[in-house]
Amino acid sequence: MSFTELGLHPIILNSLKSSGYETPTAVQMQAIPAALAGGDLLVSSHTGSGKTAAFMLPSLNRLVEESTVKGSNGPRILVLTPTRELALQVDKASYTYGHKLKKFRVACLVGGMPYPVQLKALQGPVDVVVATPGRLMDHMKSPYVKFDRLEYLVLDEADRMLDMGFLPEIRRILRSLPTKR
Ligand code: AMP
Repeated sequence: MSFTELGLHPIILNSLKSSGYETPTAVQMQAIPAALAGGDLLVSSHTGSGKTAAFMLPSLNRLVEESTVKGSNGPRILVLTPTRELALQVDKASYTYGHKLKKFRVACLVGGMPYPVQLKALQGPVDVVVATPGRLMDHMKSPYVKFDRLEYLVLDEADRMLDMGFLPEIRRILRSLPTKR
C-alpha cells in the first residue's frame, strides 16, 4: 500500500515525498483512514512504529482547507505530550509532514524555554500547538491562547501523561476546547 491510497491530500503527499517517506507503516495504514473519516481513535503502538505520522498526517490533512471559523488565529490542532523532549520531537515531525502547506506555523509550548518567545508565537496565526500540559495551562492565563478554531486534539503517550499525574490539567484543558473536535 502507498500513502496515496490512504486518502491524503496531494500537498501532504508532496511533503512526505520530499522528506523521503514512501510506504506507510502498519499503524499508519490502520489509523490514517479511520482518522480521516472523522472518528475518535485510541491507538496503541510501540516506539519507533511511526505513530507520530499516524496522528499528524490526518490532522495536517485538514489544514489544506481554510478554517470555517473566521476572525481567529488560534490553533486547529493541539498535541499534548508528557515531556518536553517528546514535544520537541513532535514539533520537528510536524514540519517534516506539513512543510508544503501554505503559511504553515507550529508553536511549541514547553518548560525550560523563555515565555516571551512562546507568547510571540501565539500572538500571530498558528496551525499546530504542541505542548506539555503544565506550560499550556500557564499560557492559558494570557489572552493569547484561543481554541475557537480547534479541530483536532491528540493526547500523545496518554498512558504516560496519566502515570505522571497530569489528569487534572488535561481535564481543565479539555473544558476550554470546543466540544466538537
Ligand atoms: P515514531 O514512532 O513516530 O517516533 O517514528 C519513528 C521513526 O520512523 C521516525 O524517525 C520517523 O521519521 C520514521 N517514520 C515514520 N513513518 C515512516 C514511514 N512511513 N516510512 C519510513 N520511516 C518512517
